[in-house]
Amino acid sequence: MHGLMMDTQLSISSFIQHAETVHRNAEIVSRKPEGGIFRYTYAEAGKRSRQAANVLKKLGVKAGDRVATLAWNTHRHFELYFAVSGSGAVLHTVNPRLFPEQIIFILNHAEDAVLFLDIQFVPLIEKIKSQLPLLKHIIVMVDKDKMPQSSLSLQCYEELLAAESDRFEWPVLDEQSASSLCYTSGTTGHPKGVMYSHRSTVVHALASVAGDALGISSSSVVLPVVPMFHVNAWGVPYAAAATGAKLVLPGAGMDGASIFELVDNEKAQLLLGVPTVWLALLQFCEKEKKKLHSVEKVVIGGSAAPMSMIREFQEKHDAFVIHAWGMTEMSPMGTLNTMNPYMASLSQEERYKLQTKQGRPIYGVKIRIVDANGNEMPHDGKTFGRLQVSGPWIAKSYYKVEDRSAWQGDWFDTGDVATIDAQGYMNIVDRAKDVIKSGGEWISSIDVENIAIGHPAVAECAVVGVPHPKWDERPLLLVVKKPGQDVTKEEMLAYLSDKIVKWWMPDEVLFVTDLPHTPTGKLLKRDLRETYKSVFSS
Ligand code: AMP
Repeated sequence: MHGLMMDTQLSISSFIQHAETVHRNAEIVSRKPEGGIFRYTYAEAGKRSRQAANVLKKLGVKAGDRVATLAWNTHRHFELYFAVSGSGAVLHTVNPRLFPEQIIFILNHAEDAVLFLDIQFVPLIEKIKSQLPLLKHIIVMVDKDKMPQSSLSLQCYEELLAAESDRFEWPVLDEQSASSLCYTSGTTGHPKGVMYSHRSTVVHALASVAGDALGISSSSVVLPVVPMFHVNAWGVPYAAAATGAKLVLPGAGMDGASIFELVDNEKAQLLLGVPTVWLALLQFCEKEKKKLHSVEKVVIGGSAAPMSMIREFQEKHDAFVIHAWGMTEMSPMGTLNTMNPYMASLSQEERYKLQTKQGRPIYGVKIRIVDANGNEMPHDGKTFGRLQVSGPWIAKSYYKVEDRSAWQGDWFDTGDVATIDAQGYMNIVDRAKDVIKSGGEWISSIDVENIAIGHPAVAECAVVGVPHPKWDERPLLLVVKKPGQDVTKEEMLAYLSDKIVKWWMPDEVLFVTDLPHTPTGKLLKRDLRETYKSVFSS
């Protein structure tokens, strides 16, 4: 027997339709890549999204066609989130920090015929256009008077928009139809595409705004520093439109000073981003003696949030850190470590310790840990296992890739190694390939890094397993010092010695000027392992 409820299809256009009718005057503030701050309302954003949908129609974009963007977090990119997906095409957000060869691969693999880009990326496209035979329309998202000179035939977003009517009927789409596409920047092989659907995007947004998740409402002021080209800025543009939250978009300004300025001027309450951007913001605040007065919560994900960072946000800025874990294949929300009665009952120090865990699954996501043979392992907070996930916003295969070896039945193997405790808290031990295998035992490189970063002279650090003649692998600690600060190898080891077990202690500490990162801000450990592979054998 079926229920007797309406069969309304879940669709991305419903977000902007809701926002522009119910939250007409709520604000969107955006730092324009060509300079200056722009602000408007959801009502105006809705109108321009419909104009942009008419532009797409005129360009010949059909349902299911992929439309690429190479763009920062701006109001124009926000409009395309609804214009492209809402009209039935697929929004393909491309990460401009990838190597040009990867960008060429991705644009060709997705068969993008239309590309919207910010002015900064015009030189990149000029360089690679000859290798993009399918690309027909290149549209620069800039005011008409700022259009760059180019050897390419470029079109101006604002000019195209101005020529279109704001009348557009959002089509009714099958909720299972593709809405957006994001490639993972894996460290091996070609990037792989994750194809989200209208349904997965809507249910993800509904789950993520909940009080025990991100807690976004019409009273929130949200600033996603996480880029709109990385897993749809963790779904925040959709969540903001669904709730009418004030949305603050930082454009290309990811440095500490620019983020601080925007937070302070716009009174942002909820910030979201990866640890490296918070390192820069916290260092700026420390140097300039600034406080993040308006900030209530900072969501940190993408890499592990060290305890020193959680503590600094809390003690210097009265900002509570929500440690989050997820991945491109998961839209990305998986687990969140939010305040609850259990956490509130703990002492401050115990609370910080709990906050270093990645948290509990949000409603909709199931998690488990398994051994090498796929057998489930106990949730005792100690046993390590490969972390697998299942749920309605988790990929079931990659775009145009036959290989489904990452799936075991309905479970997706994340490639992470984790523990889960009796209360459901998950703790990432490491990426499976980054765990240090020493004498038959495993060392978590993340745990050692998180302790080392607590030393006051350490700006950033990395721990990698390096081949060792006796122990298979041993940990090497690489440290970037804070400007004007000093620390020796002996001091570093003495600092660690009472905080970690003896056999986890790094065998060597090296000081470096910087560390390599992936295009999404994670430490590039593969390169470090290669560079330092002979440290213990020479
Ligand atoms: P991506 O698909 O680029 O978002 O990367 C996903 C991967 O980032 C996960 O599989 C984890 O290895 C890592 N990751 C994400 N969040 C965290 C976190 N809070 N702590 C540790 N690793 C994380």
